[in-house]
Amino acid sequence: MLGLMQSQPLLISSLIEFADRHHSDGEIVSRRVEGDIHRYTWADVAKRSRQVAGALDGMKLAFSDRVATLAWNGYRHLELYFGVSGSGRVLHTINPRLHPDQVAWIANHAEDQVLCFDMSFLPIVQAVHARCTTVKQFVAMCDADKLPADSGIPNLISYEAWIGKQPTAYNWPQFDENSASSMCYTSGTTGNPKAALYSHRSTTLHAYAAALPDVMSLSARDSVLPVVPMFHVNAWGIPYSAALTGCKLVFPGPAMDGKSIYELIESEKVSYAAGVPTVWQMMLGHMKPAGLKFSTLKRTVIGGSACPPAMIHAFQEDYGVEVLHAWGMTEMSPLGTLNTLKNKQLSLPADEQMKIRLKQGRAIYGVDMKIVDADGKELPWDGKTYGDLLVKGPWIVKEYFKGEGGDPLKDGWFPTGDVATIDANGFMQITDRSKDVIKSGGEWISSIDVENIAMAHPAIAMAACVGMPHPKWDERPIIAVVKKPGMEVSVAELLKFYEGKTAKWQIPDDVVFVDAIPLGATGKMQKMKLREQLKDYKLPSA
Ligand code: AMP
Repeated sequence: MLGLMQSQPLLISSLIEFADRHHSDGEIVSRRVEGDIHRYTWADVAKRSRQVAGALDGMKLAFSDRVATLAWNGYRHLELYFGVSGSGRVLHTINPRLHPDQVAWIANHAEDQVLCFDMSFLPIVQAVHARCTTVKQFVAMCDADKLPADSGIPNLISYEAWIGKQPTAYNWPQFDENSASSMCYTSGTTGNPKAALYSHRSTTLHAYAAALPDVMSLSARDSVLPVVPMFHVNAWGIPYSAALTGCKLVFPGPAMDGKSIYELIESEKVSYAAGVPTVWQMMLGHMKPAGLKFSTLKRTVIGGSACPPAMIHAFQEDYGVEVLHAWGMTEMSPLGTLNTLKNKQLSLPADEQMKIRLKQGRAIYGVDMKIVDADGKELPWDGKTYGDLLVKGPWIVKEYFKGEGGDPLKDGWFPTGDVATIDANGFMQITDRSKDVIKSGGEWISSIDVENIAMAHPAIAMAACVGMPHPKWDERPIIAVVKKPGMEVSVAELLKFYEGKTAKWQIPDDVVFVDAIPLGATGKMQKMKLREQLKDYKLPSA
């Protein structure tokens, strides 16, 4: 017997229609590429998303055709999120920090038909347009009178001219909720990038889950600043959850420096922000010397790479802001776990609570996880035993676009490539990417633990731990560090700083001072590149 409830497909168009109907005067504020601040409402987003849909229909773009973006977080990008997917096409967000050759490769692999770009990325489009053989229309995300006359890009139109002549009414098509809605290529440590292809169903379910109180806890009372880019994993799904809750959205545009972000938080009364640790590092670096405080910020979700304990402390103790440590992946839409305490943990002493907060958090309903050994045998949840982390759920990939890389699943589970522990309360802690684990004398050393201690030293701005070959122990850890401007610390002082904070054999053998740690297009440390830079390095004890 089937249930007798109405069956309506979960479609992205329903999110923007909901925001329009119930939160029409909710504000969307964007710092634009031009530098000024743009303001409008959810009603305007809805109206202009329908115009985007009309423009795509006008071009006779087929169902599931790809529309690419090279854009910052801003209102036009938001309209494309709803207009492209809502009309049945697939939004392909490209990371503009990639090398132009990779941008061209990705655009061709995705067979993008339209490429919309912010004017900051004009040079990239000028470099690649001739190689993007499937693109029929280039759209510069600017006013008609800002379109450069001599760009050299054929079939170029301004965004405002492109959507301007379309009607603001539109009947969103109804179709199978499993249809593709958007795609994002992962950086991929080996071989070519591979794309996660999200569906309307996976995106809508993720938007519901992300808004829950123990997840991102978004509401119509929040003013939300997603610093996490819309060009990488849909800004952690915040644009969709925002439409679902009707919160105010504040977009930073291209101004990602500490001063601009701080000013935006204050001027727009931001209560909630989301970003990777490097962004907050810059913001705290700006605030501390100037003695600045927040007047409205209450919570910040930090993920994408391990949030250093020193950052959680600083936010909490110096600024009264709760840090929600989160973990996820492009292949997981991206949310997997988020760290909020359980009721029984609230009465624990502050230092015990902090130990829990440092972990990557508990699984969200919709994400099943387990840790396994090399033979695939499930390992205990004791907070000590570590193994390969596997996940499954309705917003986790089952296959990559065009079947690239073959079947990624192991008995229906997706191997994350992360190594983790899970404790008896279900809190997961990442110890490493499996390729970055340091194997010393048969034991594993967590590079994240080694880095976190260095990051707690007042003179250290950034730290990366890598294993170096050792004749007796196989590998020994060393720590490459960037000093804060004007600060000094010696090798001996930093090594001494580790004493008492970790087991002796986990203390790195050496410290290497570098000007910068190589970062990838999504702000993650590129340890492969660091190892290349250190290829002539020899351990003092080797
Ligand atoms: P991406 O798909 O580019 O977003 O990268 C996903 C990877 O980032 C994960 O598999 C983890 O290795 C890493 N990552 C994400 N969030 C965290 C976190 N909170 N702590 C440690 N690593 C993280």
